[in-house]
Amino acid sequence: MTESTQTDYDIIIAGGGMIGTSLGLALAPLNLRVAIVEAIARGAELQPSFDDRSTALSRSSQRMFEAMGLWPEIVAASTPIRNIHVSDKGRFGFSHIDADEQGVEALGYVVINRVLGQVLQNSLPKVDGLDMICPGRITAVSLGDERAEVRVEEGAESRQLTCKLLVAADGANSAVRDMIGISATRTDYEQWAVIGNLLPEKKPENRAFERFTEDGPIAMLPIADDRAAFVWIQSPERAQAVLDLPDDDFTAEIQEVFGFRLGKFSKVGRRVAYPLSLSKTNGLISRRSVVVGNAAHGLHPVAAQGFNLGLRDVAALCDCIADAREGSASDCGTASILEAYADWRKPDQEKLVRFTDGIVHLFGDRRAPVRTLRNIGMLGFDLIPGVRKAFAKHTMGLAGRLPRLSRGVPLE
Ligand SMILES: Cc1cc2nc3c(=O)[nH]c(=O)nc-3n(C[C@H](O)[C@H](O)[C@H](O)COP(=O)(O)OP(=O)(O)OC[C@H]3O[C@@H](n4cnc5c(N)ncnc54)[C@H](O)[C@@H]3O)c2cc1C
Repeated sequence: MTESTQTDYDIIIAGGGMIGTSLGLALAPLNLRVAIVEAIARGAELQPSFDDRSTALSRSSQRMFEAMGLWPEIVAASTPIRNIHVSDKGRFGFSHIDADEQGVEALGYVVINRVLGQVLQNSLPKVDGLDMICPGRITAVSLGDERAEVRVEEGAESRQLTCKLLVAADGANSAVRDMIGISATRTDYEQWAVIGNLLPEKKPENRAFERFTEDGPIAMLPIADDRAAFVWIQSPERAQAVLDLPDDDFTAEIQEVFGFRLGKFSKVGRRVAYPLSLSKTNGLISRRSVVVGNAAHGLHPVAAQGFNLGLRDVAALCDCIADAREGSASDCGTASILEAYADWRKPDQEKLVRFTDGIVHLFGDRRAPVRTLRNIGMLGFDLIPGVRKAFAKHTMGLAGRLPRLSRGVPLE
């Protein structure tokens, strides 16, 4: 990474969160001039991407970080999931997915976003030709046939930068997406996710739990020091009420909802809430520009897929650019590259949107016939290994046509 006064780049990435930073690193072997523009200072308490949440990394994300040479550091800071237990509170149906049955060492790895952020951000200075402009906010964009022009505000100063390709990786509320003329629809789930971690009496031992309740699902993920990270989804009113509780009352409340599969809970940490919505775009590309990650698809976290899906956007974009360069194209923002990217990514994104939205509605439906159906479904799912295998393949990010990085193959 260089400190420079350069103003013309091959690629400018708007947003240096989980996806924008991963893209900057993934592009390294292509020797392009890249700038990441990130609005919030590194390590700031308010950094919205590298925060206290835990992320379950899928198998395809693991392979991608392996291909990028970052996996040894990430795995050292992660906890493997070897078994997932899915249940419906107060009903007889439940299901298991097991790493052994899938023939893999782990179904996924849990890492705290802040910790993942440190690994990724510490790697940025090792990349030649990569500028990190932070804090800097993109406030205006103009798209031409040959270049995109971008205005970046850094405190009281502002400057114009140009690039062959502008990548909007500025999250679900993406302003850059609007600036490049791609619209998005947003549906409020009227649910919040309350996240935090606690100490269970029984060690999680690499088991993750997803429990569906009348008010919304609750997930418990194994993390370091035998603690469990929770993602507890409920109505905004109830979420606000539990957030306001003192530690002991909160612990009693979450114990009542989750049950005693992990024994008695204690030592709950800081709790934070995230309002949940589904956002979908009416396209992925514009002239000299493209959207990736949450800017392209904001999912409900019920299936822990948002970041994993965004990484597959990153891998596919890198593949399309690398393929064009092998054909000796020096321009990484041509219409043919962008169209290849959009055609490739659309089916995976649409499938994941339908899948996560479907789970939210199936398990949020309180009508008796639907509850019976999903219990039968969960039992059937548990009894038929083929069905479980297909489901696991999707959640591990291994279904469909995979780009090089998602298969663990380095770009060059
Ligand atoms: C409770 C919860 C749990 C989750 N768990 C999982 C999980 O287990 N597994 C999984 O795969 N996914 C999970 N997700 C989803 C995952 O967190 C997101 O998909 C991921 O953070 C998206 O990253 P991003 O970089 O696209 O967007 P963001 O994280 O939103 O980052 C966008 C970045 O852009 C910057 N920015 C914004 N505007 C500008 C601008 N104009 N100029 C410059 N910079 C700008 C922001 O400061 C920010 O750093 C979860 C989500 C939630 C809410």
